[in-house]
Amino acid sequence: MNIFADVVLPLPLYKYFTYRIPTDWQESLPVGSRVVVPFGRKKYYTAIVVRLHDTEPQGYEVKEILSLLDSRPVLRRPQLQFWEWIADYYLCAVGDVYKAALPSGLKLESETMVTLNPDFEEADDDRLKEREWMLLASLSKKSRMTVQELEKESGMRNILPTLRLLLEREAVFVSEQIKANYRPKTETYIRLTFSPNDEAALHGAFERVKQAKKQEVMLLAFLDLSRFMQKGQLREVSRKSLLDRSGVSSAVLGAMVEKGLFEPYKKEISRFEPECVSVGEIAPLSELQQTAYRQIVDSFKTHTVTLLHGVTSSGKTEIYAHLIDRVLNEGRQVLYLVPEIALTTQLTSRLRKMFGDKLMIYHSKFSDNERVEIWNALLDRREPRLILGVRSSIFLPFSDLGLVIVDEEHETSYKQYDPAPRYHARNAAIVLASMHGAKTLLGSATPAIESYFNAKQGKYGLVELKKRFNDVELPEIIPVDVREMRKKNRMRGNFSPELLNRMQVALDNDTQVILFQNRRGFAPMVECKQCAWVPRCEHCDVSLTYHKRFNQLTCHYCGFTYEIPRVCPACGQATIGVVGFGTERIEEDIAQHFPQIPLSRMDLDTTRSRSSYEQIIDDFSKGKNKILIGTQMITKGLDFERVSVVGILSADQMMNYPDFRAHERAFQMMEQVSGRAGRKEKKGVVVLQTSDPGALLIRQVMAHDYEGMYNVQLAERKMFAYPPYTRLIYIYLKHRDEILLQELSTRYAGLLREVFGTRVLGPDNPPVARIQSLYIRKVVLKMELSASMTKVKTILRQVYENALADDRFKSLLLYYDVDPM
Ligand code: ADP
Ligand code: ZN
Ligand code: ZN
Repeated sequence: MNIFADVVLPLPLYKYFTYRIPTDWQESLPVGSRVVVPFGRKKYYTAIVVRLHDTEPQGYEVKEILSLLDSRPVLRRPQLQFWEWIADYYLCAVGDVYKAALPSGLKLESETMVTLNPDFEEADDDRLKEREWMLLASLSKKSRMTVQELEKESGMRNILPTLRLLLEREAVFVSEQIKANYRPKTETYIRLTFSPNDEAALHGAFERVKQAKKQEVMLLAFLDLSRFMQKGQLREVSRKSLLDRSGVSSAVLGAMVEKGLFEPYKKEISRFEPECVSVGEIAPLSELQQTAYRQIVDSFKTHTVTLLHGVTSSGKTEIYAHLIDRVLNEGRQVLYLVPEIALTTQLTSRLRKMFGDKLMIYHSKFSDNERVEIWNALLDRREPRLILGVRSSIFLPFSDLGLVIVDEEHETSYKQYDPAPRYHARNAAIVLASMHGAKTLLGSATPAIESYFNAKQGKYGLVELKKRFNDVELPEIIPVDVREMRKKNRMRGNFSPELLNRMQVALDNDTQVILFQNRRGFAPMVECKQCAWVPRCEHCDVSLTYHKRFNQLTCHYCGFTYEIPRVCPACGQATIGVVGFGTERIEEDIAQHFPQIPLSRMDLDTTRSRSSYEQIIDDFSKGKNKILIGTQMITKGLDFERVSVVGILSADQMMNYPDFRAHERAFQMMEQVSGRAGRKEKKGVVVLQTSDPGALLIRQVMAHDYEGMYNVQLAERKMFAYPPYTRLIYIYLKHRDEILLQELSTRYAGLLREVFGTRVLGPDNPPVARIQSLYIRKVVLKMELSASMTKVKTILRQVYENALADDRFKSLLLYYDVDPM
């Protein structure tokens, strides 16, 4: 008999906690199901059962599980095992993984914020039970409160199970991500009040609308939409489609309902099922693509992971489609990972045409309800599905993965920086795939050095595709020496004559232009022109960024905003001005150079919502806008047909960034953004502005010489013992008190050195050495490849536990970043 359950809590705890199972469920509590448990003082959480047993834990009093939330587990095998792998590999708590993995709606706790759904019609729902009514009534007093407050307000105890029901009925929402993206789950449909076989009634209906032209139009529209006259299966007609088709106002519809001709009814719709699906054929592959496809299939016979290195616009996506089709036909699931939400937008319509409603999308711009719905759909049904998503979709409850595709596998946005788990979705996906016995395909025009290295070493299969689809040539890259141009006084702001001329030609020919400005360290700043004073964030060790729209200074780390001082606080002069150039500035300058040309900008600030991405990409695809200005965001795999010129405004900062991966990154970004040019038909042009056109890296970019870049970089990595020749673990230490932090981190590095010797570097100040009032130090551990990481991690844990003997260490925040990017 199982009397105890070990559970994982959504907290950074390094172990499982044990609770007593109430006698009623001792025989029926499955592993993987959610339970509500008390933890800490007066708090409770949704926990997940990971193990059942009958060994009473020693040393503390075991509390009892408060309630059971599910009749079936919310996790599928091997999810728990996958969570444990992540926690173990990335040195964090399983609770951290749990927090990242589940949508908020599935992990209610006493601190969860609950909001009333303003669109919920109580009258609609006669299924509400008394407890649900009572909760709703209490919630309506304030419309928004935490679970704990709600409990107090209602005087009810143990409300999570009731809340769960209300959530399912969409009477309430949880946490912050609600309104904007919410689509109601029911839609209104219209039907006639008589059957298709009733000729007389139909005749009568026409009689009754004879005097009202608009009603007649609507009736005809209905008959058409529903295929009423065809005598076959009637098609359901939504209110919206009826109004659209007839072009008549809803008042007319109302009148016809009044007359008793039409009858509205509600119908449940699924959010991820598209309104109309026309599943088309998948385009046949070209001969080269066909060969690559066969090589991939062959490679999978001997390798679980294969890298597809195909130049930009070689048609990798089309090859994926054929592989996906094959796996779906075998009845298995496919996970298609992309680095950026922006990419899902374009791919969605492409893949929808091929796979129809087998396609599901999952990312953070979806409302929590939608995410819960997708989660449950995967849980309740085992169907062949294609899931397209960003990194967090590796946590979904897949039943039978057959293939994982990691597109643009070199992208750093696959790595989560903050908070824990600091995982790399590409690497985690490879592990996930192998747990399912699935294959992984990595795809990129500019593979990560680590991946290419693994492929060259034979650890991964390697398939190369060296030509663009349709034999379009890769773009020509024209370097412009901006230093020279400045000397000759020929630059116009940040633009060289070459770039402006090329842009003009492109626009004259009715083609489009993309301008790329790497944001990093490039956002506009405010500076005193007299004494070079620069405003900095009071809580973080960074200079502030200037936002023209609000005429304000913002800290990009903590979001704090400041007014611009009128006089310089250092020298007292009124000489404060804006320097540097971010995308906002570029946009403004371009608008001056090309006053009549419609343009848009894509960066973090312009893409806060899901629809804004779609809008920008859609407008540009359709040619509404002629110039697109953007950050890294626009370098990633977007497919536009009519871009003939790409401008890289400055290569310098990318190349000079203080990181051993700077050159690799710079190459990837430049090659990728170049790849947006001339994708269909004609060869494109890239104008590359740099102050060092002779640099080896620039020459490699000009020659599209990935191999050359790889060889040079690899040699350097070897010389300086960097990955892929070593493994890195960064250890971050944070504290409010800088002096204490310095002392403790030096002590801690010393303790590590006793074991690891010269493999320990630091402590150092990271580039940003204070964030949100916490000072930061970084210790680097550089391990040779042959070292057992399991052992290394055990030692790390021991060293930390030993350090805790000194009480002051307890006030220190310490965390690890394994395989940092
Ligand atoms: P990549 O992902 O390698 O950058 P894409 O898959 O986006 O390349 O292909 C580039 C363009 O060429 C797309 O517009 C795509 O529709 C087109 N294309 C590629 N392969 C084919 C094919 N076999 N048939 C028709 N069009 C193709
Ligand atoms: Zn700040
Ligand atoms: Zn000054």
